[in-house]
Amino acid sequence: MASVTIDIDLPEGVEITGYERFGEAHGFEVTWPWPEHWCCPRCRHEEKARWETTGKARVIRDLDVWGQPSFWAYPAAFHRCSRCHYRQDLIPPFKRKDASYTLRFEKHVVRLLIGSNEQEVARRLGIAAETVARIVKNQVAEAKTIDPARQITDVGIDEISLKKRHKLYVTVLTDLTRPEQPEVLAVVSGRDEDAARRALAGLTGPQRAGIKSYRVDMAAAYNKVCAELLANAQGVTDRFHVAKLWGDAIDGVRKKNHACPQSEAVESGAEGVSRADVGVPQGSEGPDRGGAGQAGGVVHAAAAIANAVRLAAAFQDDLRHGAESASGVPAFDGVVFGRQRSFSGTGGFRPHL
Ligand SMILES: [Zn+2]
Repeated sequence: MASVTIDIDLPEGVEITGYERFGEAHGFEVTWPWPEHWCCPRCRHEEKARWETTGKARVIRDLDVWGQPSFWAYPAAFHRCSRCHYRQDLIPPFKRKDASYTLRFEKHVVRLLIGSNEQEVARRLGIAAETVARIVKNQVAEAKTIDPARQITDVGIDEISLKKRHKLYVTVLTDLTRPEQPEVLAVVSGRDEDAARRALAGLTGPQRAGIKSYRVDMAAAYNKVCAELLANAQGVTDRFHVAKLWGDAIDGVRKKNHACPQSEAVESGAEGVSRADVGVPQGSEGPDRGGAGQAGGVVHAAAAIANAVRLAAAFQDDLRHGAESASGVPAFDGVVFGRQRSFSGTGGFRPHL
């Protein structure tokens, strides 16, 4: 048994309670403080929350770890209104309803699309091109608020376009203050001057005044708007700069790891806050994974994650064999016990992982 320690950034309040490696994928059991108060969306009745677990695990996709997909598992739970009996599932703060991936995975997808295209990003992540498109649409629909206290000195504005099946053009505002870690600030529809204005509108006056450089996609009409709205900034035209920076950061990590293979710590691009000790078993057997969930529920996360990994792998095989997703294929959304279906090659259900 060898053991390495890695730093993993986690959304506020989220903790890792378990880990298991699944071949070329990673499974994390996560938990977070569940809401104590509940207001019924149907009858507006308010009461102390009584979450009931189903004993099943939900599994969603998160960012890659060492270039390999990682999955989060958490207990499926719901609340039933004591007055009208309306049943509502517990939605974690790190994902949106009906999505089988984390919110930060969505941002990662948007970031990868800069300088790339939906097929390439789908292939790289082992997800459907349809999923890439849906994520971009989600991001556009979401009104993002940029923290007014955030210190931003460098930004990028890029166009991304989904051309294949969707005529979707989007403008992305990225924070390049820490160039090794570009972060998406705003995603708006369109690719014209108006789009650039709407993207920059989320910044306060002082934030705009504090920006020293902007880098824009030279093909787009962003220069003029930046020159107008970012009074103290210099323009730098550098096509696909974010994608390049991101790629450089990843290459840097690879080189670093390669240079000292015996180092036990890996400074990955993971945005380190919380620390998780990750024991990597040499064989496939690990300790029993039946961790206790909250509210007394027992979650068998390992089986659910293994299932997700199997589906993702099957899906990637599918892509390798050139079977592009056909429309009309029934969607397999998420990997939830009780909704399992068989997955067989090209004709089966398509996991939206
Ligand atoms: Zn109710």
